[in-house]
Amino acid sequence: MNVLVLSDDHETVGQWRAALEHIDPQICLVREGEVPGSTIVAALVDQPVRGRLAALPHLHVLFSMMAGVDALLDDPTLPPIPLVRLVTHDTVALMREYVYYHVVRSRRRFYTIEEDQRRRRWNLGAPSSSPSSCGVSVLGLGRLGLPSAIMLRDLGYRVAGWSRTPKEVAGIRSFYGPVGLQELLPTTNILVCLLPLTIETEGLLRADLFNELPFGASIINAGRGQCLNMDDLIAALDSGQISHATLDVFPMEPLPSNSTLWSHAGVTVTPHIAAEPTPDVFVSRLSRDLRKALRGDVLTDIVDRRAGY
Ligand code: NDP
Repeated sequence: MNVLVLSDDHETVGQWRAALEHIDPQICLVREGEVPGSTIVAALVDQPVRGRLAALPHLHVLFSMMAGVDALLDDPTLPPIPLVRLVTHDTVALMREYVYYHVVRSRRRFYTIEEDQRRRRWNLGAPSSSPSSCGVSVLGLGRLGLPSAIMLRDLGYRVAGWSRTPKEVAGIRSFYGPVGLQELLPTTNILVCLLPLTIETEGLLRADLFNELPFGASIINAGRGQCLNMDDLIAALDSGQISHATLDVFPMEPLPSNSTLWSHAGVTVTPHIAAEPTPDVFVSRLSRDLRKALRGDVLTDIVDRRAGY
């Protein structure tokens, strides 16, 4: 079974090919021109593919290598077949871990201790209060946001969540829509963004939102870089309105070497590594879903093209 790969990331694709040889040798990842188009049953893509899939007559399913599909949906020629986000159990576990680590690091300001060590300075600071004194709000209660919010709840944080449609989750104050967002902000000490990029979420994290948070709140963004207005963030950090920002995603990636974010004292940058599963986990999911698609079975994690995620 031939699966067309459209990606410039040759190293990662090579790892997947190697993993598939062990896990499901009947599936071949092929490049454009390597086999007749009529033999290709699925496509695996990580970038806009304008027009490049339209001529393949036997495509059953499209797989997105990225959990964020905003760039793909910009393509009006994308065939009207299921578009699946390959979110795995590992993706979820890794994101939960990333969120937990950075929530703790932000709440207890461990980044100042890391700086003190570099400066050979012993600084006890004020004693830490318990997690229950800290309000954490998770924007986006989807495949990654909901498990992260539940984990924080179970660790004793005061957790709120925000989504597009209403949710009921025990022990989590749930809000939805623009009005819900306004209600949640004043009790938010740490804001975790796990939103997809859509017309509605682009630039959502900006000055007026920051000003509704308690003074000195922290932000963690592992959703999409374009959800956050960087100039407004820098201004909020410089004024102290935001005390610290942890950023895993950026409008331009890799983050350009001349970006102020690299050296800003209030910013921690990580290179879009919050939740990337290993090749074997990734191709296992690919193999399972391809076989399901060919049998006509129902798939999960299908993108709702109208909602944009
Ligand atoms: P899902 O599609 O499962 O969930 C998206 C969530 O966002 C849903 O709860 C949805 O609400 C909510 N949402 C969407 N639009 C709005 C809106 N306008 N207002 C309020 N809530 C909204 O996505 P995932 O959880 O799988 O992933 C989220 C994002 O994380 C991805 O799009 C990707 O950009 C990013 N990501 C980052 C990674 C990294 O390594 N940094 C790795 C993987 C993903 P509702 O439930 O009502 O539909």
